[in-house]
Order: sequence, then structure tokens, then C-alpha cells
Amino acid sequence: MSGLAESKLVDRFGREVRYLRLSVTDRCNLRCTYCMAEDMKFLPKARVLSLEEMVLVSEAFVELGVEKIRLTGGEPLVRKGIVELAQSLSQIKGLRELVMTTNGVLLTQYAKDLKQAGVSRINISIDSLKHERFRKLTRFGALTDVLNGIEAAKEAGFERIKLNAVILRGINDDEVLSLAEFAVSHGLDISYIEEMPLGEIGSHNRSETAVANISIKDLLSRELGLDRHDHNDSASGPSKYMKVTGTASRVGFISPMTENFCASCNRVRVTAEGRLLLCLGNEHSLNLRSIIRDRPKDLKQEILASIVRKPQKHEFDPNDITITRHMSATGG
Ligand code: SAM
Ligand code: SF4
Repeated sequence: MSGLAESKLVDRFGREVRYLRLSVTDRCNLRCTYCMAEDMKFLPKARVLSLEEMVLVSEAFVELGVEKIRLTGGEPLVRKGIVELAQSLSQIKGLRELVMTTNGVLLTQYAKDLKQAGVSRINISIDSLKHERFRKLTRFGALTDVLNGIEAAKEAGFERIKLNAVILRGINDDEVLSLAEFAVSHGLDISYIEEMPLGEIGSHNRSETAVANISIKDLLSRELGLDRHDHNDSASGPSKYMKVTGTASRVGFISPMTENFCASCNRVRVTAEGRLLLCLGNEHSLNLRSIIRDRPKDLKQEILASIVRKPQKHEFDPNDITITRHMSATGG
């Protein structure tokens, strides 16, 4: 193997890792029913990576070939110092894109600063446009905060803002079309994400709420028209994109349950406590926190060595919650 190949994150199946999703906190200002249980226990501060440690981890990954970092959580905007973190990360030489996934609640406060700090794109999660339903789905959130957050992100100059919606049968599946129409009328993109069986949630039985993305695609094709769209960003990963006919809005389908895309997986996740997860649907991991704190010089080499443990694919089964960690603790 050449020196160059050895310093890149390439797994046993020839997949090159170029995308890191970094969870900056496991805490959140909402409690979406499909993501969290009602009474969550959060990590004590000492177990959470400091901002400096997150920069070290990110630098190591960029040196190993990562080109894109997504800040996520929990809710990334509740992490103290998030703007400063973004500022430091955006300056890492070799990083092409720093992006964020947020619930949007705090964007009126942070959108401008994030833009200035070098965050280039934002995904905003929104699962309902009905005020009462939104409150129920998030257990106490206010839809108005998110709508204002979307406006704030547009005013701050963010382009290609993408909405994320998890569609659940019997809960919000009557809003597939209105969410897409909302995206189109506001000049936004939208992705539909299939619910994954991550963690016990208590609020509903996931096998009863599952909606296959193909039915969403069929509905939108019929009602709005969808055209093929070749998304050429090689670091972006497995989402499949279409374009709403006659508009600039893209529609993405993230279908982990019905259309396994693991063969093209180019990503890994680091949790807020510094656990490197090589696959969302498996527990193979490496404790980066102890490496950074005890023997920081080994960090890059340990990450490199761990990549052989990246599993070929996930085995999600909505009837069998084998992964007890919630999405909020994982970095969705
Ligand atoms: N708090 C931020 C937000 O909601 O956008 C970022 C973290 S959240 C865990 C990231 C994404 O994961 C959101 O779009 C959310 O809807 C999605 N998500 C959470 N739990 C999920 C689950 N069990 N299955 C599928 N998507 C999930
Ligand atoms: Fe919080 Fe995001 Fe999970 Fe909702 S989906 S509870 S906003 S982390």
C-alpha cells in the first residue's frame, strides 16, 4: 500500500470516509417523540468532549481525508460556544464544507453568527406545519419558533436550506404534500427521512408508524411532478435527490429501512462523549475521548486502525430495538 492510501480512511469494502457527523451535545430543547424518550438522562459534563477536544478530533479526521463536517446533536445550538467552535472548524485547512442540522428553534439568535463563522449550509428539521401537532410531536415545542428560525436563516444569507421531515403513519403522514409545498413556496429543499429503530421511545410502536419513502415519492410525483436530479456532491452521501418540476426545490429521500444504501456509505459519527461510531446501525465504536485525554499522539493512528471495523451494513428491524442509543445521543 502506498503512503497516501495508508493515510486515508478506506474500509474493507473499499468505501472512503469523507464525511464526519459531529454531535456537539446530547441535550436538546425539544423532545421529539420518535427521537427521545420523555425522561432522558443526559451525559454529565465531564464525559462530554470540550470544544478544544472537538477541534482536535476534527483536525485528525480532515488530515485523514474528511472533506465535510456536519455539526449535529442533540440540538447543536444549545451547546455553549457553538459559534466559536464553528469558527475554529471552518478554518481547518482541507475542510471543504462545514454544515449543521438543527431544529431551528434558536436560529433567530444564531443564524447570522453561524454564517459569519463559516457554516455554509443548514438543514432544519420540521415534521408538521400544524401548531398543535408540532407541539405534541416535540412534546412542548412551538412551531412559530422554527418558522421564524427558517426566515432568520434565509435573511442571514444561507442558500439551499434543506428541511428534514420524518413522516409517521397516523401522526403526520397527511402532511407530506403540504410540507413539500411549503418548501417550494419558500425556495427550500426538503428531505423525507424514514424513522429508524434507535432507542426505546415509549410514545408509539415504530413498526406501526413506518412509512416507506416510495409511497411519499409516488404521491409527490402525482401531485407536484418530480424530475431526475443528479446530485454531484461526492461528499454528500447516500440521499437520493429529485427536483420538483418547474421549481428550484430538491426533494431528498433518505430510506434506511426500505432501500439499503450502505454500499455507498462515506460517513462516520462522533458522539458528544467522543465515541467514534463507524455505523449508525451497529455498536462498533472507538473511545476517542480516552485516547485524546491519555495519549493524544495516537489519535490519528487509532482512528485509521479502527476503520477496518466499519460494518458492511446495518440490520435495522423496527420490531427489534437492538440499538438502545437514541438518535439524539448518536448525532443524526
Ligand atoms: N436537533 C437537531 C434536529 O432535530 O435537526 C439535530 C439532531 S437530530 C437527531 C437529526 C435528525 O435526525 C433530525 O432531522 C431528526 O428528525 C432525525 N431523527 C431523530 N430520530 C430519528 C429516528 N429515530 N429515525 C429517523 N430520523 C430521526
Ligand atoms: Fe431534539 Fe433533534 Fe431529537 Fe428532536 S430530533 S428531540 S430536535 S435532537
